[in-house]
Amino acid sequence: MLKRLTTKEYIDGILAANRMILSRAITLTESNLPADKILAREVLNAVLTKTGNSIRIGITGVPGVGKSTFIEAFGQFLTKQGKKVAVLAIDPSSQISKGSILGDKTRMEKLVNEPLAYIRPSPTSGGLGGVANKTREAMLLCEAAGFEVIIIETVGVGQSETLVHGMVDFFLLLMLAGAGDELQGIKKGIMEMADLIAITKTDSGNELQAGLAKVAYQSALHLFPPNQTGWYPEVLTCSALTEKGISEIWQSIEKHRLLFTEKGFFQQKRSEQNLAWMYDFIKQSLEEKFYQHPNVSHHLKDIQQEVSEGKKLPINAAIEMLNLFYQT
Ligand code: GDP
Repeated sequence: MLKRLTTKEYIDGILAANRMILSRAITLTESNLPADKILAREVLNAVLTKTGNSIRIGITGVPGVGKSTFIEAFGQFLTKQGKKVAVLAIDPSSQISKGSILGDKTRMEKLVNEPLAYIRPSPTSGGLGGVANKTREAMLLCEAAGFEVIIIETVGVGQSETLVHGMVDFFLLLMLAGAGDELQGIKKGIMEMADLIAITKTDSGNELQAGLAKVAYQSALHLFPPNQTGWYPEVLTCSALTEKGISEIWQSIEKHRLLFTEKGFFQQKRSEQNLAWMYDFIKQSLEEKFYQHPNVSHHLKDIQQEVSEGKKLPINAAIEMLNLFYQT
């Protein structure tokens, strides 16, 4: 068993960029033990003033689009410039099936060995909302440890993109060219959230198709109403194999940061995200308490049955359960 660290040891270790201690602190935030949670919050609170100094980038795309290969190339592009890069993940699949699309250990083999990079797999328990919270906390700890670029990866298959979008400065959507349906089941809402769309695998004779896809996505983006920030999402092509387009993607992210900082949107977005985090946490904690309540958990199944059979009005069922909750 590892020796238990004191709060001070955690704080000093993180601020000294000690990876082993950073990893242990992240594990602490993922723990469900009340004592660990308290310690984790103490540590986070103590390092709070050292957080926020990174650029937070969300990356999403369907399985197979090339996310991990892209992050490997992109991460190395950044570490070559001396930047410290942390990669965190939110894997919705691990919540549903307990299996994982992102968790595979062989991913990003080269980046894992880069001294300036830090890769942390997705937390695996706590439901998607809980995982999002843990990822936010991990992100702050990485910032306190001096990481300048934080990449949060997620699979483009569900609501996890919205969660990731709600915690990053820049949202990058990776797309394939010529994979049948041009939109590949990526919902319009996700496209609308993207600050940049990058078409992957623009190599090995795939260039023409990638060019066509670029035009198609550009016109799809034009259908969305312009936002108030003055940022127009670009569509770029790239290849993780040849490294084509990787530096252009970074330039776009830098351009976005500059524009957002100049106009005050950078801080505004982060402030809004912090408030949303607070409200999310309240909502989740209340919901947890509600469903754990013995009266509620005892009657839930029966009431659910009655609602699904149309015997009870959903609103009445909800009120009945709320009354059960408030009774004691
Ligand atoms: P993920 O599921 O989105 O993380 O996708 P992966 O990064 O695992 O990539 C899926 C497949 O596409 C793998 O077989 C990769 O080797 C391949 N791939 C990824 N990026 C590129 C690229 O830039 N060019 C080519 N030709 N293949 C790529």
